[in-house]
Amino acid sequence: MWDLVIRGGRVIDPASGRDEIADVAVREGRVVAVEPNLDPARATDTVDARHKLVTPGLVDMHTHVWHGASFWGTDPDTHAWRSGVTTWVDAGSAGAYGIEALRAHVAEPARVRVRALLNVSGLGLVAESGEHRALEHLDVGSAASMAARQGEFVVGVKARIDRHTVGENGIEPLRRAVTLARSIERPLMVHVAYGPPAISEILPLLGEGDVLTHCASPAPGDLVTPNGISDALRRARDTGVVFDLGHGSGALDFDVLETELSAGIRPIISSDLHARSAHGPAFDLPTVLSKLLAVDWSLFDVIAAATVRPCDALGIDDGSGTLQPGTAADIAVFDIEHGTFEVFDVNGSVRQAPMRLRNTATYVAGRQLPPVADAPTPPWIALTPEQRVTEQHQLAEIRAAHAPGPSHPDDSGRSRRRQEDER
Ligand SMILES: [Zn+2]
Repeated sequence: MWDLVIRGGRVIDPASGRDEIADVAVREGRVVAVEPNLDPARATDTVDARHKLVTPGLVDMHTHVWHGASFWGTDPDTHAWRSGVTTWVDAGSAGAYGIEALRAHVAEPARVRVRALLNVSGLGLVAESGEHRALEHLDVGSAASMAARQGEFVVGVKARIDRHTVGENGIEPLRRAVTLARSIERPLMVHVAYGPPAISEILPLLGEGDVLTHCASPAPGDLVTPNGISDALRRARDTGVVFDLGHGSGALDFDVLETELSAGIRPIISSDLHARSAHGPAFDLPTVLSKLLAVDWSLFDVIAAATVRPCDALGIDDGSGTLQPGTAADIAVFDIEHGTFEVFDVNGSVRQAPMRLRNTATYVAGRQLPPVADAPTPPWIALTPEQRVTEQHQLAEIRAAHAPGPSHPDDSGRSRRRQEDER
């Protein structure tokens, strides 16, 4: 017997090249078959997904989930059940001093899967900025040994390189981050914003497989020129640097993005979801996906950019990002709304998306995630008037989703047992 069959949806699983109407069968937390017309009588439970999209649980390679301990952190469980994101990569919220706490107090209790990029600064993102201003916190040796203690939890290194974060230290924090990444043999993700350092100083230090996040941000101002992508960006592209969107509060400019697309750059799509961007303009990963649909990406390509591609980029090989039989049954189900939908970049420029994805169910290891209410926005996050309106609207929607009642009282206990079973 199977535990569950999700029937009749349009199944897009880019890792296996699949885009077809099919059923997905689940047993003991794993996908066991993806085929048209599976026999529903063989399943304890069936879900009708006709006219819906069924994908692997989405993988968001740039998020900030160290809630309760850092400036930007937000609880992934409050977003996952209504966005389809089942694997969350925390992008540098914790450094050597905090990585144990991120794992023990966020990743292990979470219903979703959490991995981390270790900040080269021991301070991580406890504060809004400035973590690279005092170089004594950028001790490569202690960061490397803390990374080694975390096993597969740490999938890479993170450094924010912009004028507020590095202060007087120029390119030195980036040099240390490169040294750390090479010593633990993991990719380095570098955030760029307002320089100095300039893009032409930063990008030459990145190697094949390293990740440039906020790749379509208007902030650096020197990613592209009026004549196309900058020389530094062209060389990074040719070196094999991976580009990541990292939408966040301020990192999508359609003009920059379209210049990069016409130069053959195909970014991975991530939300940079944090305590502020969750209120817009990123909102959630499906919203960010719709912005790439608005610049003529296919549905298959946007799903690939939020499933198999981030897993490949970060070496995540636990079965996340695919529905291939034998892998964990992390599954997202969406309504596809066809029409013409206005989507915005951070400057307020508009594009038209031909469809919108609305997540209707999200499964981790075969278990549907129940609604989880949002925590209040921390007092240090200043929302714009528009974001406050959105917050009220979201709270009302979440309350509606909670009706007729909250999740089963022992859900969290079951979730913890589920995680223990998997180890
Ligand atoms: Zn970020």
